[in-house]
Amino acid sequence: MKCHILTLFPEMVLGGLRTSILGRAEEKGVLSLHGVNIRDFAENKHNRVDDAPYGGGAGLLMQPGPVYSAWKSVAETCEKQPRVIYLTPQGRVFNQEIAGELAKEEELIFLCGHYEGIDERVLELIVTDYLSIGDYVLTGGELAAMAVIDSIARLVPGVLHNDASAEVETFSDGLLEYPQYTRPEEFMGKKVPEVLLSGHHGNVDKWRREQSVLRTARMRPDLLEKAVLTEEEKELLKTLDFQGEM
Ligand code: SAM
Repeated sequence: MKCHILTLFPEMVLGGLRTSILGRAEEKGVLSLHGVNIRDFAENKHNRVDDAPYGGGAGLLMQPGPVYSAWKSVAETCEKQPRVIYLTPQGRVFNQEIAGELAKEEELIFLCGHYEGIDERVLELIVTDYLSIGDYVLTGGELAAMAVIDSIARLVPGVLHNDASAEVETFSDGLLEYPQYTRPEEFMGKKVPEVLLSGHHGNVDKWRREQSVLRTARMRPDLLEKAVLTEEEKELLKTLDFQGEM
């Protein structure tokens, strides 16, 4: 998968993303990250890419010209036009399902706004998807793009050391992941649950599934509305009383 990131701060996005697993994925050739500095397309000698909004109001807005030229510099190199994702608090709230959908694309373009955002006309011209990472406002789209790219990239085959790890984790089946433990067997008086030491895979799977259901009910009960549960699991949930636990 190839990700192009249109931003005023490519070093921030690339530095962050290349630090660990995604950096190794790039070295292996299963992922390619390409930063495009929108400022390189400034249309004046001071390299300014922002100006005051028409009609007045606080802050500055990114001008349409440099953003359009930055996009065009990438689009011209692509046979099939990639989806262009604008990171914005006004977009659809990103989740694991959207990550899975986007991971199937071969090439994606991410557009990061800054200041008060970007002139609407260029958004209308080039953007295909508006994505938010949550109902709060960041100073720029860079951190949002990093979060979105990271979660998409780890679903691309070959990016994770073991592709199965992305299949059995939180949200993969609509539930939160079960609690996990590693060495030592006892830590500050707290023991690893016996069943995990038993070597009985059937019992381990059963325990993990039950823990997933219980944890989801406790931490994110909203997720249970869409989760597919067995009759036995539904009965188990009816017996629970989490009041006062949180
Ligand atoms: N004036 C804009 C508004 O009210 O919708 C907010 C602009 S914000 C200060 C600057 C940039 O940060 C945006 O253009 C966007 O790229 C990014 N951004 C801020 N919050 C975000 C969020 N929750 N999700 C994704 N991107 C966000």
